[in-house]
Amino acid sequence: MHQLNHLFNHEPSPIEQIKASWAEQAGVALYIKRDELLRMGSGLALCGNKWRKLKYNLLAAESQGLSRLLTFGGAYSNHIAAVAAAGQAFGFDTVGIIRGEQPEILNPTLQMAISCGMQLVYVSRAQYRLRHDAGWQEQLLREYGPFYLLPEGGTNDLALKGAAELARETEQQQGSFDYYCLSAGTGGTMAGLIQGCAPGTTVLGFSALKGSFLQKEVSKLLGEGQEGVAWEVINHYHFGGYAKHQEPLLRYIRNFYQAYGIPLDPIYTGKMLYGLQQEIEQGRFPAGSRILALHTGGLQGILGFNERYGMDLPTA
Ligand SMILES: *Cc1c(COP(=O)(O)O)cnc(C)c1O
Repeated sequence: MHQLNHLFNHEPSPIEQIKASWAEQAGVALYIKRDELLRMGSGLALCGNKWRKLKYNLLAAESQGLSRLLTFGGAYSNHIAAVAAAGQAFGFDTVGIIRGEQPEILNPTLQMAISCGMQLVYVSRAQYRLRHDAGWQEQLLREYGPFYLLPEGGTNDLALKGAAELARETEQQQGSFDYYCLSAGTGGTMAGLIQGCAPGTTVLGFSALKGSFLQKEVSKLLGEGQEGVAWEVINHYHFGGYAKHQEPLLRYIRNFYQAYGIPLDPIYTGKMLYGLQQEIEQGRFPAGSRILALHTGGLQGILGFNERYGMDLPTA
């Protein structure tokens, strides 16, 4: 039925050095782990951190005998896209509860979700806010169940477990790094990475969202007893918040692609690399530091962004 053994035999995603003058001038060695190239299923949706976060959840669903996944997300959500693609690739039925009215014309994310067989259920924003409510979840269970529930954004303990493997995989490939840098939304990938890191490492999470709630979120996810790994959320490279777009960021993404041939998305990885370059130039990192930037994926989101704003950012 499900071909979940695939989950465990994939090649590690490649790590490449970025030979940038701004890194050389600061005396740091900058690498990027191209987890966006770790792709499961067809299309761009199931890659990077969304894949890492789903992996153990899919195994849990199977071991609980549940053949349906239900989750929540916005209309452009990378997580919705990834769950839909995982359903198609591994033989789960999928239900996506989408925040807001059904749009007249479906964006690429929703089209892709439907083509993967996901059942989309549009709910008002007020209703959507009740997604943690036990009463509503029971009602969903009666309507669509039984299902394996994945939270919005896919962050739970099993997601952290999958993300933690990123650190071990990286170490096996390239030895230890002084810094890991990544984009953070819910903070789940960051928390998992912190748990997987060797003592002495510092993890820097660049928030894709406006506000300063992430530090607390990550603490909460980590719980007690996380010692030896320093970490920090950096809050000032959100470019106005989730899914806002600003010309300097778009220019950065285009230039980065021209220089290194690596596509970045404007919601997550673009902001992270932009911020990381600033931090390197401002001297945050001592000379001799080995820095690993994690490309968490997000490629499917570029399609929707391009369509929405009439852009042509590259996806490959
Ligand atoms: C979802 C996503 C993130 C955020 O991951 P969290 O675990 O929610 O912090 C970062 N990068 C990309 C490309 C994503 O799709």
